[in-house]
Amino acid sequence: MNNEIYMEFDAISTNEAFARVAVAAFITPLNPTLEEIADVKTAVSEAVTNAIIHGYEEAEGKIVLHCILRDDLLHIEIQDMGKGIENVEKAMEPLYTTKPELDRSGMGFSFMEAFMDDLQVQSKPGEGTIVTMKKKMSGVPIALYEE
Ligand code: ATP
Ligand code: MG
Repeated sequence: MNNEIYMEFDAISTNEAFARVAVAAFITPLNPTLEEIADVKTAVSEAVTNAIIHGYEEAEGKIVLHCILRDDLLHIEIQDMGKGIENVEKAMEPLYTTKPELDRSGMGFSFMEAFMDDLQVQSKPGEGTIVTMKKKMSGVPIALYEE
């Protein structure tokens, strides 16, 4: 099954829940397992939270969510046009955080990496960040039963 969605929303914490649920709805036709749904929702939630807290530092901004399904391969991009990351490699290390005062634990990227099959982070200071995640889904698409 092939499908694609593209949406842009305000970088506010209510939309973290919105993005999670939107992606869960997007993968529903693939008949995902409960574990796959939980994994994808957690990964999306971490990336969107990062855009809000770190990308825009809770000031105004927009987040773009782009999801593509090519057969059983799910591809998710989450983009912000915020402050960007100086050193991506360092930012991706487990327990690394620039906001310990906000009780962040520095595990967001590690969760994305653990729950998805592939994680790429592109970022430029002053321009923003694009997080690209891929996951091979196991389910037999529901459409197969319907036809
Ligand atoms: P946690 O996710 O455990 O609450 P955290 O957000 O600090 O803590 P990560 O999600 O792993 O941990 O991110 C590590 C660091 O990478 C952040 O502290 C921040 O400095 C930087 N970072 C992550 N996403 C972005 C982003 N979209 N824009 C700017 N900086 C980011
Ligand atoms: Mg985080």
